[in-house]
Amino acid sequence: MPSKSSTAATKGLDNLFLDGLKDIYYAEKKILKALPKMAKAAEGKEVSAAFEKHLAETEGQVDRLEQVFELLGRAARGKTCPAIDGILEEGTEVLEEYRGTPALDAGLVAAAQAVEHYEIARYGTLIAWAEQMGMADAAKLLKATLAEEEATDEALSTLGEGGVNERAMQEAA
Ligand code: FE
Ligand code: FE
Ligand code: FE
Repeated sequence: MPSKSSTAATKGLDNLFLDGLKDIYYAEKKILKALPKMAKAAEGKEVSAAFEKHLAETEGQVDRLEQVFELLGRAARGKTCPAIDGILEEGTEVLEEYRGTPALDAGLVAAAQAVEHYEIARYGTLIAWAEQMGMADAAKLLKATLAEEEATDEALSTLGEGGVNERAMQEAA
C-alpha cells in the first residue's frame, strides 16, 4: 500500500487502547457533571440516591483511569466522545420535557441506563484489549469499574421495575 502505509503500521492495538482510554476519560468527566443535575431533578428519593451513589463511584472511576494512564506512562487526557455528548443531551431533553410530570423519573432512569450501557461496552472492550496486550494491572483497574457500571445498571432496572415505571402511568389515568 502506498502513501498511508507508514502511518498504518504504527496504529496498532496500543493506539486503539490509548484512544479508548481517552474516550472514556472524557465521558466519565462529562458524567461527573451530569449526575448532580439528574440527582437534583429526580422526584423520588431512591432515584436521587442512586444518582448520588453513582456520582461518588464515578469520582473513583476517574481516579482509576488516571492510574491506567500512569501505567502507560501517558498524561491523562480526554478525547471528545460524541456518543456520550449525545446520550447526555438526550437525558437533558427528558429532564426539560418531563419536568413536573410523573414520568420524569422513569425517563431519567432510562437516560442513565443508556449512559451505563455505553460505559459497559467501552470498558468491556478496554479490558479485552488490556488482557490481549498482557496488561494485567490495567485490566484489573478497568474490571473494578466495569463491575460498578453493571451494578448501577441493575440497580436502575430494579428502581424502574420497582414502582418508577408504574408511577409514570399515573397521569394518563
Ligand atoms: Fe462510569
Ligand atoms: Fe466514545
Ligand atoms: Fe456509570
